[in-house]
Amino acid sequence: MNLVMFGPPGAGKGTQAKILQEKRGLPQLSTGDMLRAAIKAGTELGKTVEAILARGDLVSDDVVIGIIAERLDQADCAGGAIFDGFPRTIAQAEALDALMARRGKKIDLVIVLKVDDKVLVSRAEQRMKETLAAGGTPRADDTPETLKARLEVYYKNTAPLIDYYTGQGKVVTVDGMAPIEAVTAAIAKAMESHG
Ligand code: AMP
Repeated sequence: MNLVMFGPPGAGKGTQAKILQEKRGLPQLSTGDMLRAAIKAGTELGKTVEAILARGDLVSDDVVIGIIAERLDQADCAGGAIFDGFPRTIAQAEALDALMARRGKKIDLVIVLKVDDKVLVSRAEQRMKETLAAGGTPRADDTPETLKARLEVYYKNTAPLIDYYTGQGKVVTVDGMAPIEAVTAAIAKAMESHG
């Protein structure tokens, strides 16, 4: 199954994608993780995108589409994948449909995690505190100012994808404010009915 985990920053896309990866063996394809890895490794790509991520803006469609196209051809994606943080624009969604079609595949299901903005802000604060308490380095884009920018980008560029996928009959909306296990259970149910 090919599934898109969709929702605003802090909705729990990564958390649920990781659980699914563990339970079902479907790889989590997180463009955010891939871009952060490139920044950490100091690659050309990393240097190009670092300031964009720090601002909370979107990296260009061509860059992320290229990363995903390459990743999709790796063996572990043969049985499906979980897209986490991709697509984020209509152009990316159209490109993904084309990439999948060329491989004889399609997106089967889009899980939309619904979470109120106030909860997203407090989750980012919490994530920052916990990372600091554990002696780690918090994400540069989890600051209140950058989160605000990321939310604006989400509502402007990314939220319209819900209509795009609703038109394809693929959307299941899940309450992302429920406990983690309840969200996981709701996703499992949606996967059964779309499997
Ligand atoms: P995330 O970890 O999904 O919250 O992504 C972190 C940041 O990486 C975003 O704020 C963007 O700057 C960049 N990014 C990740 N995925 C994409 C994408 N699909 N399109 C454009 N930019 C992206």
